[in-house]
Amino acid sequence: MPNGVGVLALQGDVDEHLAGLQRCGAIAIPVKTPADLERVDALILPGGESTTVMKLLERFGLGRPIVERTRAGMPLWGTCMGMIVAAHDVVGIEQPTLDLVDITVRRNAFGRQNDSAQVELAIPALGSRPFPAIFIRAPWIERHGPAVELLAQREGRGVMAREGNVLATSFHPELGTDARVHQYFLEMVRQQGKASTAA
Ligand code: GLN
Repeated sequence: MPNGVGVLALQGDVDEHLAGLQRCGAIAIPVKTPADLERVDALILPGGESTTVMKLLERFGLGRPIVERTRAGMPLWGTCMGMIVAAHDVVGIEQPTLDLVDITVRRNAFGRQNDSAQVELAIPALGSRPFPAIFIRAPWIERHGPAVELLAQREGRGVMAREGNVLATSFHPELGTDARVHQYFLEMVRQQGKASTAA
């Protein structure tokens, strides 16, 4: 990973993701401009507010370069708001997205009672020990295309998915101390690095 991993730093829980990456030994870089984006090997879209961030992406000229790099193979991980921004579309509202992973999401899906919760989530890809997943006004995956692998479900709804170089989680691994999702993403970045050196 020569250049490090970027965290989109327009709004949201940026510092927590930067710290999560650093705890795993990665170089973590806040991304605010297209020039910042050019310096990173991979990008995390953090939690925040998806309609606000879509507007900011437009204003900072970052939407198109993120789409181009991700379609060219750059590993991308969206958490919560980031999952919504990366999705194909959103149920029930005309909300623009970057359309980087073939999922339809429902915003604030778990209802008021369960607005925020920590759930012991089974994620077989991370091993047999459940993952302490923090959900905050989280979306769920209402539909996914055939190329999408659902990696975890809560109450029968998809909350973690992967399609090739794109990873999406409804929950916030950056707010806890279990580093396994960050490590999983960094492994995706390493594999991508190998593939592009071999090409
Ligand atoms: N509810 C927010 C949205 O729809 C996402 C919440 C989060 O990122 N924690 O954009």
